[in-house]
Amino acid sequence: MNENKKDIRALSLNELEAYFSSIGEKPFRARQVYDWLWNKNARSLSEMTNLSKPLREKLEKYFVINPAEIHTVQKSKDGTIKNAIKLHDGNIVESVMIPTPKRTTACVSSQVGCSLDCTFCATARLIRMRNLSPAEIVDQIVLIDEQSRKYHQKPLSNIVFMGMGEPLLNYTAVTEAIRKITEDKGLGLSPRRITVSTSGIPKMIMKLADDTLKVKLALSLHSAIEKKRNQLMPFSKKFPLTDIVEALRYWYSRTKSRITFEYIVWKGINDQEEDIKALAEFCKKVPSKVNLIQYNSIDKGTYVQADIDVIEKYVSLLEKNNIVVKIRKSRGEDIDAACGQLANKH
Ligand code: SAH
Repeated sequence: MNENKKDIRALSLNELEAYFSSIGEKPFRARQVYDWLWNKNARSLSEMTNLSKPLREKLEKYFVINPAEIHTVQKSKDGTIKNAIKLHDGNIVESVMIPTPKRTTACVSSQVGCSLDCTFCATARLIRMRNLSPAEIVDQIVLIDEQSRKYHQKPLSNIVFMGMGEPLLNYTAVTEAIRKITEDKGLGLSPRRITVSTSGIPKMIMKLADDTLKVKLALSLHSAIEKKRNQLMPFSKKFPLTDIVEALRYWYSRTKSRITFEYIVWKGINDQEEDIKALAEFCKKVPSKVNLIQYNSIDKGTYVQADIDVIEKYVSLLEKNNIVVKIRKSRGEDIDAACGQLANKH
């Protein structure tokens, strides 16, 4: 029905201005429409009540707004909510609302499925893949902000790009979405409350540093021993750790923002002294801290989280080397909403 019409949110402010002048309208109309789209989060053109009816009808002839919609909602015992979000073409991505007493974090997706092949991640098993548009990313955030206000009487406070997909492989849309949500009007979130998590694509890490968005960066490391890391994350064979370190150093020199290493400890994989030492050495190469994240099993047997005494060994050796380390518990496990469990099982 709407297939021949263009989603008006694909137009930049400049393009909107050009369009309005081409139909003989004043340029300020473009600002008004932009404001409806990105600050008031209008879900239809008919909501734009400060435009005349004839103008709205004209717009409706050529344009449409395709909002992402909540398809299903699952609530965890711990308050975490996992949303399956339906896109206009029927594809589904997942976004998670994670409440804590002090803040509400949105874990958002950047792609439908993922093109990377991390052997321990459920999303990697999905075949289909396309990039999300900036609007589809912003929609996830707006929907979670609404949920946070509704269930916790407070706005969304933090965003992590740790849902489905690799954000740095959908760079343009992700950074455009970040610009939209950090604009003064609308959500107006501080970029410092946004974390982009990457599997490690050196060139794009440097680009993100150059673009001075002021977001935080997390790197999924999981092993500081190249050979092991390549087994866990086969795509990373293309990106040697030395290149990643160089990109991270560049990141720090440009942003002065410490990098978080995400790290899972598995039985029989990276639970030895040599693994811990390698991580400690790696951390010394660039200002960083370590989040030891809990492994959420995605099938039986292949990967099993190491016992707590091994994790404590990690903590004590890292701390001995003056490296900040935290043990991160997962949320929403009972509904498969935890990291690496997003796989459209609903
Ligand atoms: N592609 C990006 C962002 C998505 S993954 C990245 O790799 O960083 C977000 C985080 O979840 C990553 O640190 C990833 O390694 C981790 N993860 C993947 N599968 C997991 C699982 N089964 N249990 C716990 N964390 C997992």
